[in-house]
Parts: sequence; structure tokens; C-alpha cells
Amino acid sequence: MLDTERWTMINIVLFGPPGAGKGTQAQRMMEATGLPQVSTGDMLRAAVMAKTVVGLEAKKFMDAGALVPDEVIIDLIRERMKEDDAKEGVMFDGFPRTVPQAEALAEFVEVSIVLAIEVPDDRIVERICGRFSCGNCGAVYHDKFNPLPESGCECGSFSEKRRADDTEETVAARLQAYHEQTSPLAAFYREAGLFVSIDGDRDID
Ligand code: AMP
Repeated sequence: MLDTERWTMINIVLFGPPGAGKGTQAQRMMEATGLPQVSTGDMLRAAVMAKTVVGLEAKKFMDAGALVPDEVIIDLIRERMKEDDAKEGVMFDGFPRTVPQAEALAEFVEVSIVLAIEVPDDRIVERICGRFSCGNCGAVYHDKFNPLPESGCECGSFSEKRRADDTEETVAARLQAYHEQTSPLAAFYREAGLFVSIDGDRDID
């Protein structure tokens, strides 16, 4: 018998190195699809700000540019997927990042497609080091590639936010974590026939 509930869900995984544009594209796709963006990075940053137990544990890994332990991340996602707005599917941004995370996800969510945004390492540093966002609405900007319009942010109430880990020192560690722990996931999803590669080294549109 068909499980009709699962068939009506679309779960997109946005895959790629830090600074590839996953968050930027997720925001645009959110407008186009209505699916919520589920960013483990955003969830962890909120936990750090709120000084929760998870936040306090995650902070030391995040500050070092290392991955937060799988158990912490899997629990976060399991809880997030119980929320009402996840019923018709979500766009995962920055999750899964390890094979164990992907295996755990497969136990309770069917992934529909993995969109891999490919950007060479030497472009990542300049992308990450110039980026900032609007603390009010979350819109993402970049000093060089996507500057704040003279008229300001579309939300009308811009406040500049830069991430503590968007520094040259931390980017190197984050890229290393990506190559060593996250890249192997490409083969995992390729074998499942879900992996679609997209050239992300071009303009946002
Ligand atoms: P992001 O905003 O996706 O670049 O994530 C920022 C930081 O949060 C990463 O450098 C990791 O320390 C941590 N993080 C986010 N998502 C994950 C994940 N799926 N697994 C492990 N650590 C994560």
C-alpha cells in the first residue's frame, strides 16, 4: 500500500562546502516552493545565543570550525521535523554533513533530491570573508558579490550581522571538515540516485 503522506512530501538537501551559497539559494527557493529552510547552523547559533545546554556544547566545536557531534545534530533535526511546518517537506541547509547523519535521517525522512552546489576551494575564502546578513529579516549580502542596495534592505529595517566563524583562520578548518567528513556523502547520495551537481561558481541568479 502506498504511504500517501510520504508521497506528498518533498525534502530537498542543499549540499556543498561552506560559502557555496546554500543559505542564499535556500532563501530564494523558500519563496518559490513555500518549503521551510532547516539550517542546522542557524539552529546551533540560536542555541549558542540562548546559552542552552546544546548551545554551550556546540560552541567550542563551532569556534574551532569543527563539526558538532552527530548525536547532538540528529536530536535537533528529529525534534525540528515534528513541527507543523515540516509536514509537507523541508529544505535542509548544512545537514546532513556526515554519513552517520544521513543514515539517521533516512530512518525518519525520505530525501527527494540532493542539490550539490559546487564551488572551488580558492573561491570559498573570499566568499565567506565578505558576507553578512540582515539581523532583522535574514537576507544574505556580500561586500563584493551582493552588496546591500543603496536603498537598504528590502525589509526596511536593516541591522548588520556577521558570523563569528566567518574568518580566514576558521574557514580553513571548516573546509578541511568538509573534505574529510562531508564529501564522502556525495557517493552515498550518488548511489541512491539522488545527487544533482550544480556549478555554484557564477552569479547568484
Ligand atoms: P553552517 O552555518 O552550516 O556553516 O554551520 C556553522 C557551524 O555549525 C559548522 O562549522 C559546524 O560547527 C556546525 N554545524 C552546522 N551544521 C552541522 C551539522 N550538520 N553537523 C555538524 N556540525 C554542524
